Amino acid sequence: MSTLHNLRLYNTLSRTKEDFAPIDPGKVRMYVCGPTVYDYAHIGNARPLIVFDVLYRLLRHLYGASHVKYVRNITDVDDKINARAAERGISIRELTETTNAIFQEDAYSLGCLDPDVQPRATEHIAEMIAIIEKLIASGHAYAADGHALFSVPSMADYGGLSRRPLDEMIAGARVEVAPYKKGDTDFVLWKPSKDDEPGWDSPWGRGRPGWHIECSAMSWKHLGETFDIHGGGIDLVFPHHENEIAQSRCAFGSGVMANVWMHNGFLQVEGQKMSKSLGNFITIRDVLADWPGEVARFNMLKTHYRQPIDWTAAALRESKRELDRWYPIAKQYADSEAMLSPEFEAVLCDDLNTPEAITHLRRLYSEALDGVAFAGARLAACGRLLGLFQHDLGAWNGWRPASAGIDELAVQRLINARIEARNAKNWAESDRIRDELLAMGVQLMDSKDPTTGELSTRWEVKL
Ligand code: AMP
Ligand code: ZN
Repeated sequence: MSTLHNLRLYNTLSRTKEDFAPIDPGKVRMYVCGPTVYDYAHIGNARPLIVFDVLYRLLRHLYGASHVKYVRNITDVDDKINARAAERGISIRELTETTNAIFQEDAYSLGCLDPDVQPRATEHIAEMIAIIEKLIASGHAYAADGHALFSVPSMADYGGLSRRPLDEMIAGARVEVAPYKKGDTDFVLWKPSKDDEPGWDSPWGRGRPGWHIECSAMSWKHLGETFDIHGGGIDLVFPHHENEIAQSRCAFGSGVMANVWMHNGFLQVEGQKMSKSLGNFITIRDVLADWPGEVARFNMLKTHYRQPIDWTAAALRESKRELDRWYPIAKQYADSEAMLSPEFEAVLCDDLNTPEAITHLRRLYSEALDGVAFAGARLAACGRLLGLFQHDLGAWNGWRPASAGIDELAVQRLINARIEARNAKNWAESDRIRDELLAMGVQLMDSKDPTTGELSTRWEVKL
């Protein structure tokens, strides 16, 4: 495997597209800020999930699957979590566990590969304390009144990522006026916890970490002091990523935290900013009730990741229609080992130009209809790199929105129960489940693999 590829990525640090050269081509390292698990993720949160999943797939293709390490954290300590748990009268652990389980299902339904590591903030408190201690020892942080704070003036080149003027940063930071702060822009690394708040013992008393230090600690633990790519939504540039950089670079005395900083643009809904008060707040769950996750993924990828995206029902309908046309051809070549088209690879390597990559898929589709050799197989291979065509044709054609009365998950659960019944030779139960599904409008089709003899079940909706 050659280590030189033509991958170019836009780096927010330099505001330019740069040739990508990993520090160690044998281990390409990427960190993406994950969810704060206090509520259902919304469709805006799906954007970094999908965008960085495509980048992960591309890096695995270029460098080899075992040479890429993707870390996406789970923020399970945060004041929003405490407030929500109190509101609902449940324990913090119960809230974070269930919210994370829902998030994992959402990511799976959107066709995302699991990252290699999904570290939890609460399991990295020791690393956070270690970084804060290094910062205090080197004069970049100080303890005051049960808090530990990062001293922004101690870092000569603070602000290099967001390039915001100092007065703007001061104005932003002044929102949180506090007597224990020495400088206006200083930010919290550690803060004290009341008895009823989650807390850990530390040199500064019982307390909990600030948000930014969590990512510095988890990326350090799993990727090292300096790594290749750090990603997230554009809203994270300031203050979150700026402060991650300040913490990590000052703690480790390094010139960079990550070489490339990538940020996805924002998503709005039907031309408006998504907000609970406007009533246009859409969770990933809501979308999955109406569309297969792959339609949402495809729809997302039609816009370049750095552009804003307008999420509309009309676009989703068109995305579904387009995939409906492609699926039967792509599935004919599901097992083919076809190579990616060079043009497809080239546009994806040009800062993840997924809209152009999809234009290429359209060309392959019409060539396949015209009988051009390899076009169908290439459509399948290129689509797979974008995470498309993950379902078999029966499941794809059988898909109906939850509003049509079919709950795909419930169907799958019943099918699994029937397989268990059959394995236990409980034929009566197996037949009962078949009838129950039929009553729901779901027709099962069993088949046996001629070589392995293994049984499998596909299903279709009979409307
Ligand atoms: P949060 O849980 O708010 O920290 O967000 C998780 C991720 O989703 C971060 O990378 C955010 O930048 C990203 N994100 C949040 N809202 C949107 C949006 N409307 N469009 C695109 N990305 C978003
Ligand atoms: Zn982060």
